[in-house]
Amino acid sequence: MAYVCTKCGKKTKQLDNSARCQYCGSRINVKSRSNLSREITTD
Ligand SMILES: [Zn+2]
Repeated sequence: MAYVCTKCGKKTKQLDNSARCQYCGSRINVKSRSNLSREITTD
């Protein structure tokens, strides 16, 4: 399962315990799922 950062938009497959983006340090709370992906990104 992939996660998408709401701040920088980067995707990450693995999160640390605090669920923070590896790139910008923002907290990630969006899971990339088929029923949501079209609202989040045009991938
Ligand atoms: Zn980020």
